[in-house]
Amino acid sequence: MSLRDHLTARIRANGPISVAEYMADCLLHPQFGYYTTRDPLGTKGDFTTAPEISQMFGELLGLSLAQSWLDQGSPAPFTLAELGPGRGTLMADLLRATRGVPGFHAAMQIHLVEASPALRDVQASTLQGYAPVWLDSVETLPDQPLFLAANEFFDALPVRQFLRAGDGWSEKRIGLQDGALAFGLSPAAPQHALQHRLEDTSDGDLVELCEAAAPITQCIAARIAAHGGAALIVDYGDWRALGDTLQALRAHEPADPLQAPGEADLTAHVDFEALALAAKTAGCAFTRLTPQGVFLERLGITGRARALAAPLQGEGLETLITAHRRLTHPDEMGNLFKVLGLYPSQAAPPPGLNP
Ligand code: SAH
Repeated sequence: MSLRDHLTARIRANGPISVAEYMADCLLHPQFGYYTTRDPLGTKGDFTTAPEISQMFGELLGLSLAQSWLDQGSPAPFTLAELGPGRGTLMADLLRATRGVPGFHAAMQIHLVEASPALRDVQASTLQGYAPVWLDSVETLPDQPLFLAANEFFDALPVRQFLRAGDGWSEKRIGLQDGALAFGLSPAAPQHALQHRLEDTSDGDLVELCEAAAPITQCIAARIAAHGGAALIVDYGDWRALGDTLQALRAHEPADPLQAPGEADLTAHVDFEALALAAKTAGCAFTRLTPQGVFLERLGITGRARALAAPLQGEGLETLITAHRRLTHPDEMGNLFKVLGLYPSQAAPPPGLNP
């Protein structure tokens, strides 16, 4: 039995599935899911993320959150949380960078929201000595001040895809054609959740809907609004994404999303407007959506890179220069990735971001 067999049987029994149902099975099926069964990160894996490129990323996010914590009067205890921590690299860099912040480590209670047992194991070894608590969902985060980071978490949440047809929408579905997985379209129907997209789309445009993103954001935002805190959400995407952004990556190369279910990473761009509106509904303020490069420059990444470069030469120095460029340059991750901050409306936004 493989994931392809499982999907084929599922479609034979119940008919075509949505892109979201397909993504959910591919990424998190308990037995065959991409994340459930492996550590996909790094040069030997399928993709690399900002914290895996350089320690500077986690350090600067950590210092931004710690400064927000100080600005809000150093509340204790507080939750230090990360969504989808991967290998735990960002959290480890954040913890090292904040060691000197008076009272921060004594007051923090680390919570990691992680669905993958394989990655929980990696996180446990990266974060030895810190005793984090693992959660399946944001719903069980404690009711107390919450300082949270999420890098490339929301892009892993399943999206549904719709094609505009008049004032309705046809949903892209995955069925079988000659025994193979193939895309099809459902008959057009009105979609309440896409009502606002009738104003900026025309016939044939494709829009994506991530149903899980708003409830997760509301859950975080409600804690920040009620008890204080801040969230830094970093991902690729835009304010109101348009077009097909479903992407499969395998061994650092783009792949056909239907080709090898469960063997490739599947992501979709994040619709940051949906996150911001969910935060607002929960009574929480949000920052301007800011390119990652701008955010990191404001936090002093170039100074940090110079300090790290001082003792280096040759290959080590080259690697550092390349990492700085990859994280910040507009032609690399600097513009593609965006940062959205959440914070209590009576507090200052996290450093690096503007209201
Ligand atoms: N933040 C890390 C890893 C990004 S990969 C980094 O930047 O390197 C996506 C992470 O989110 C993985 O840890 C994956 O297992 C986790 N994940 C994906 N979907 C999830 C879900 N629905 N609930 C909890 N964790 C999830």
